[in-house]
Amino acid sequence: MKTRRPISINNSLSHGICNYNCTLCGVNKKTYKGPKEFQPKELTEKLIARIEEAARQGLRVRYVANAGDGEPTLHPDFGARMDLFGAMIRRWNAPNVPAPEVSVVSNGFRLLSPGVLDAIVRNDLTLIVSFPTPNPEAYGQIMTGNPENGRHLLDQVVQGLQKAFKLLAEGHLKKMQFHISPPDRDIVRRDFNKTVHFLTTLANEAGVKDIEMVLFPATSNRSGLIRNRTKGLDLYKDFFQAYRRWNRHNGVLVSLKLSYQRFFPHFKEFLDLLRGFNYPCTWNSQIFLTAQGDSICCNDQAVRNPLGNLTSHTLVELMEEKEAYLPGRVCAGCDQSPRHMSGSFRSALFGWLAQRKLAWTKARTPECDSGRKCLAALHLEPVHADH
Ligand code: SF4
Ligand code: SF4
Repeated sequence: MKTRRPISINNSLSHGICNYNCTLCGVNKKTYKGPKEFQPKELTEKLIARIEEAARQGLRVRYVANAGDGEPTLHPDFGARMDLFGAMIRRWNAPNVPAPEVSVVSNGFRLLSPGVLDAIVRNDLTLIVSFPTPNPEAYGQIMTGNPENGRHLLDQVVQGLQKAFKLLAEGHLKKMQFHISPPDRDIVRRDFNKTVHFLTTLANEAGVKDIEMVLFPATSNRSGLIRNRTKGLDLYKDFFQAYRRWNRHNGVLVSLKLSYQRFFPHFKEFLDLLRGFNYPCTWNSQIFLTAQGDSICCNDQAVRNPLGNLTSHTLVELMEEKEAYLPGRVCAGCDQSPRHMSGSFRSALFGWLAQRKLAWTKARTPECDSGRKCLAALHLEPVHADH
């Protein structure tokens, strides 16, 4: 494996199964033809064994998110699965490799369902809630495509947040973050001040003195399942200006982060991606697992192009599959490829370097002289949503 940076894992505990129907997500759409299944227990156990095995081999897994392409708290054994991750953290003894941070990424609707918050608290996990806006109509629009649903959904989510903030203030919940997501950019931008005001008010009422919010620079088209209306990256520089770390809002410190900073906290980790991957696509740079352990790129929600499986491959081998990957039909229908990166000098430079790396690889790969896989990559023919 060429990669030397710590890696992250996104685990689909409930793949293709969700109680929401976000407009930017392929799950619950007619065009979605991927799996709809909960992760079997053996698979979760295998994942944990693979993480421990990787640590013994010197590969650091920095972060495990129980998120993926569905709502994890819907899993019928959610509590018991979180206990498996909690046990992994408690018994961790790999020399020189710290235990990964383990999180649950939820839309927040089931926080008050029996056992959900308890499981997160007793296992010292991080709770991440997707919260794009406090405006009921806009929330309903983003989360279900229907503004009228927003009030009912938000009422339920906010009650759960109040409980979670209270647990945080009392020191029971280890950490909580907000994803300002799904990133419907027009609404996120329009409502951002209200979102900060709303969340800091809830935090202040519970006695929490700082909150973390994560912004998403890109909207994804999920490899053709969903069309992306917004082009380029938005790094939200104006928000970072307005909400400086040392300013309090409603008596609460607001910490903003961009989503990629979690996966690439240091610039040199982007260089590692450029060096190690034939096709350095940021969305294919970490491990994304389906419920059955297929390794996919972040945007391959319908699992059209698995790159190995957790049951037969170690994490090192899965990363090697990703490093060797050359783009084909699935990438052709995706607007998140490096060639679409724009919005800042750094992202455009990264996109340009990534394309140069791909061209360099092809020039040195004999099968690329006539190989169909490489021709598809060169011509990038579009793949439609119903494929
Ligand atoms: S983005 Fe998340 S919450 Fe929304 S439909 Fe998809 S899996 Fe569900
Ligand atoms: S370009 Fe390919 S590897 Fe990158 S996100 Fe799109 S489908 Fe995935």
